[in-house]
Amino acid sequence: MTDLHTDGQPIEALPTEYSGTTFRSRLEADWARTLDTQRILWQYEPERVILPSGAHYLPDFWLPEIGTWLEVKGPATPRKEKAVELGKTRACRCDGPCACAWPGGEMVLLGWVAERTHGDINVARSRSGYASWAAAHGPSAYFVLCPWCGLRQWITLRRPWKCRACCRSLESEELFQPHDRVLPFGSGSVWSPADTAAIRREIAEQIAEAEAADSGHSRSEAPYEE
Ligand SMILES: [Zn+2]
Ligand SMILES: [Zn+2]
Repeated sequence: MTDLHTDGQPIEALPTEYSGTTFRSRLEADWARTLDTQRILWQYEPERVILPSGAHYLPDFWLPEIGTWLEVKGPATPRKEKAVELGKTRACRCDGPCACAWPGGEMVLLGWVAERTHGDINVARSRSGYASWAAAHGPSAYFVLCPWCGLRQWITLRRPWKCRACCRSLESEELFQPHDRVLPFGSGSVWSPADTAAIRREIAEQIAEAEAADSGHSRSEAPYEE
């Protein structure tokens, strides 16, 4: 199906095969690829959920090691009500210390199209850029690497900060938000997990190069829009 990967097509209308799975859109496939580069185990549409409102909902991804749902949202799929409702439903409601299977309960993330700019500067030379996400419900989601079990994951700043997989403390670790640009996204993410200092240097170099080459005019090529 790779012949369907034509730039300029609306991303939502483009079934895309990746790693033995046919995704409804290239954006979903790019998220799967991004999760793979981070060595985050994923399942695509594993479970249809009936929400308290009675709505039927088929979330895009379940990340079984880190108790997280990921709903991918492109420009043509702006509605996020079901993801928000799932987030509310599955969040921790423990009185006292959290006894949920995952610290803070199950997390629901919204995965957006790639970020391609840093301020006014386009830092991405490939069509992919950097991963962009938000928590569907509750406090902001930060990306972090657990030094104890080695799993990459999203956590919120609700204390205590714990690894969602091994439950050990992440209090002293570096947490990243989307604007930190440390998570290369999609088909351009030929990136083996390395130390974040190296990634930050690379991004700084890209920004410097873009500033030098690009002063005045900006490239406006958008990967997921017409
Ligand atoms: Zn709990
Ligand atoms: Zn861990």
